[in-house]
Amino acid sequence: MTTARRHSGPWIHRVLVMAGTLLLGLLFYWLLGFVVKDIGTLRGPDRRAVEQELIEAELLANERQLAIEIEDGQRSITDLKKQQAVLRDSADNSEKTMNRLLELQKLNLQKEVAPSEVEQRALGESQQLFLANQRQYQTINQEVAALTDRLRELEGRQRENNRQLQAARVPAAREYEDRARRHQWKLAAFKLAVLVPLLGAVVFLALRWRGSLYAPLLFALGLATLAKVLLVMHEHFPRVYFKYILIVASLALVVRVLVYLLRMVAYPRPDWLLKQYREAYERFLCPICAYPIRRGPLRYLFWTRRTVKRLRHLPEGQPAEPEAPYVCPMCGTALFEPCPECQAVRHALLPSCSRCGAQKPAVQLVGVNGANGTGGDA
Ligand SMILES: [Zn+2]
Ligand SMILES: [Zn+2]
Repeated sequence: MTTARRHSGPWIHRVLVMAGTLLLGLLFYWLLGFVVKDIGTLRGPDRRAVEQELIEAELLANERQLAIEIEDGQRSITDLKKQQAVLRDSADNSEKTMNRLLELQKLNLQKEVAPSEVEQRALGESQQLFLANQRQYQTINQEVAALTDRLRELEGRQRENNRQLQAARVPAAREYEDRARRHQWKLAAFKLAVLVPLLGAVVFLALRWRGSLYAPLLFALGLATLAKVLLVMHEHFPRVYFKYILIVASLALVVRVLVYLLRMVAYPRPDWLLKQYREAYERFLCPICAYPIRRGPLRYLFWTRRTVKRLRHLPEGQPAEPEAPYVCPMCGTALFEPCPECQAVRHALLPSCSRCGAQKPAVQLVGVNGANGTGGDA
């Protein structure tokens, strides 16, 4: 894993991969949004149905019936008043006609001309019409009065009915709110029942394959799912609960990161260890305990981490490449050993044989440190 060389590729590829990962996360978030929205369309309680269930049917029926009757009564009164207006016009007209005819008669009397039969009849007719109009007007007046009385009575009943309804609606409204709240919890449960297992699966896979080539894909999916889960919780849980959920989740995250960092200090990652090993070998020091590696031409010399640079000029005429295996006399770690492939002596704690290039698995390299139980060089 650590020895595999990672090709990051040209920058344009890296940008494209990043953009693609971002797009994947966004699309997945979108998809989750559709799922959550569809779950949200589940029908909740109906306020009217709850009222019908909990309020006396008679009260509700009365409310409707009274409203219809009152409206009918008001319309009838308006109609009658229109009729009266027509009648008033007509009466005015016949009054005018009558007056004109009377004036004519008076003039004729002054001129001592007897009124003709036609004139007499016309006068009589208009008088009759006027009286008939008046009678009808009176009748309608009585009707309007009766209707107004009835209307007043209906309105009184409506007021009483409304008072009772209002009292009955209070528990119904409470029940409706109760059911609506339960419906919201149900929706939240459904949504989380889809999202949380998904989040668990993605997180599991991401942790499992965090070192793999396709880890960014899983991270993108995980982040999208996490964002949706938080949003759903924010939408459905009362702010008080959400606050606690958020703070507990943050605490868990911080603790997890801290544990990770502490473990890294105690059990460093293989690539960090390898870097330490490399630096120790460069200075001819044991990577485990920092005791000088006194082999070959260095056998009779002394140096420390700081003074190692003065050893640059090695004594002449001595073999540059020591052949024998070597174990640190201080901590007992094998530092040079025969290569299983080519039998030459190789670095025991570096990945490749310097002669044939045979690779040693990283676990095996780092395992040496774990087995000895000492961390890093002193
Ligand atoms: Zn040592
Ligand atoms: Zn080899």
